[in-house]
Amino acid sequence: MKIQRAVYPGSFDPVTFGHLDIIKRASEAFDELYVCVLNNKEKTPLFSVDTRVKMLKEATKDIPNVKIDSFSGLTINYARDKEINIIVRGLRAITDFEYELQIAQTNRKFSNGTIDTVFLTTSLEYAYLSSSTVKEIASFGGDISECVPPYVAKQIYEKFNASKGE
Ligand code: ADP
Repeated sequence: MKIQRAVYPGSFDPVTFGHLDIIKRASEAFDELYVCVLNNKEKTPLFSVDTRVKMLKEATKDIPNVKIDSFSGLTINYARDKEINIIVRGLRAITDFEYELQIAQTNRKFSNGTIDTVFLTTSLEYAYLSSSTVKEIASFGGDISECVPPYVAKQIYEKFNASKGE
């Protein structure tokens, strides 16, 4: 029997309940799910790749078929290395769709049609949620307990408190 592997790539800076909802649902749909923190040079992240990987590992420790990894480069190259032919992405709104459609088509074209993208639509309770929103709320001392797991919230507050003290 062929094992169906998928990769869910992203910045995860940091992981939110929106990402975790997609991870949980994708882990039920595929035999193995690789969640891959991409080192995107165009973005200045709040957390290092290592910290983002650690937070994801902690958040997904109870899901046995999820592997957390990181990569610097194109998702299709990562996928090829791991013999993965499905990329999973989450869709929150029409604004996500335009951007995601273009990336999905590019990935399909540059992998000679071997790598497809599967979209999971957000659960409605997380439709508003993004890593940037969480960081902005936390930077003003707001309550992010409904957005991220407690240990992620702790690390975000620590970052902002540290930068206040500089
Ligand atoms: P990127 O910088 O690659 O967009 P993100 O970490 O922001 O990385 O997001 C990774 C993926 O998760 C994207 O497909 C994004 O649309 C999806 N995503 C982010 N937040 C949510 C959410 N609240 N619900 C569903 N999908 C989401």
